[in-house]
Amino acid sequence: MKRHLLPLLLTVLLLGSSGCGMQTELPTAEEETFAVLTDPPTEPPATEPPPITEEPTTEPVLVRVEDPAETPHIFFHSLIYDPDLAFDNDGEDDGYNIYMTTVQEFRTILDQLYENDYVLVRQHDIATETEDGFVPGDIYLPEGKKPVIISQDDVNYYNYMTGDGFATRLVVRNGKVVCEYTDKGKTMTGAYDLVPILDEFVEAHPDFSYNGAKAVIAVTGYEGVFGYRAVDNPDSPDFEKECKEASAVADALRNSGYEIASHSYGHINFTKSSYSTIEYDTNRWEERIGSVVGGSDILIYPYGADITSNIYHDAYEDTEKFRLLYNHGFRYFLNVDNTQDAWVQLNTRYVRQARRNLDGFRLYYYPEKMKDLMRHPEAVLDDHRPQPVPKI
Ligand SMILES: [Zn+2]
Repeated sequence: MKRHLLPLLLTVLLLGSSGCGMQTELPTAEEETFAVLTDPPTEPPATEPPPITEEPTTEPVLVRVEDPAETPHIFFHSLIYDPDLAFDNDGEDDGYNIYMTTVQEFRTILDQLYENDYVLVRQHDIATETEDGFVPGDIYLPEGKKPVIISQDDVNYYNYMTGDGFATRLVVRNGKVVCEYTDKGKTMTGAYDLVPILDEFVEAHPDFSYNGAKAVIAVTGYEGVFGYRAVDNPDSPDFEKECKEASAVADALRNSGYEIASHSYGHINFTKSSYSTIEYDTNRWEERIGSVVGGSDILIYPYGADITSNIYHDAYEDTEKFRLLYNHGFRYFLNVDNTQDAWVQLNTRYVRQARRNLDGFRLYYYPEKMKDLMRHPEAVLDDHRPQPVPKI
């Protein structure tokens, strides 16, 4: 049995806070004959290969990532596309300022992660389930490169965000996932949130992605999924149509390197919720959302609120809440912890990882804590944000 435990204290924060070298070609028989015939008779036949005329291949040497448990995992909420609309004193400003990241900030973060030699990997890359349980995943990156996972929570485009400068839903156009965005009654499609922005970045920098990995997209269900409200309303005349459209978005996301996670149906607190509440919620997510997005074995705890803050395997596995979630097929459990750069707990039956929020609150108060990720974290904050950012 493989056990891998970092002896580190996990503080769950309620989010209130082939080597493939240069190839030389052997001379062909024709070239050899030509060389012999034209060489002066005093010289022996050429034994050296002819000069290389082809461009050498530039494939980098790949190195196995020694400890995938040291992979940092960073996360975002829906990105603020138009800060003027987000910060318009309508009562939601403080929440957006604390918990959200702007499009401009996200683009700067991607630039800096890339400059700092990070490469996106999948949640499933860091650990693989074998007959003997989970074992560290085999990740091969060019020498000097480091893995990182990105996730985005609440990709639901909730009602309360309408008119506040956010995308309104994800749609598939020419096989690609883009966002809809409505401004002054006009609806446009384009890069208004994380998915299409990340897609464009990886298209421009393919070496930023390991095997095409992009991000983990976490969704609740109480207002449908990806902005398709009727998915949670079987009585709606749009139910069938929106379920099909949301399924198409999920398929296109997976085809493009994304993974999909449950963020619970009702955005519940797993620390405080009773077993029966979690049971009801998990069934509901599975029936209403999992059935549309293709299920998931990744659970991202809302508020970062894990079923227990206890770091010991037995204390986790022996809980009835764990058994319930395990029986529903969940294997990757993600909470929130900013006290360490990376924290992964690998056990026979599960993988548990802590994530770090790169939002207004953290960017304003703790940029120095992101020095492992970026060389100039203090340069990320968007001037369009009201400052100081409110405290939680
Ligand atoms: Zn959430």
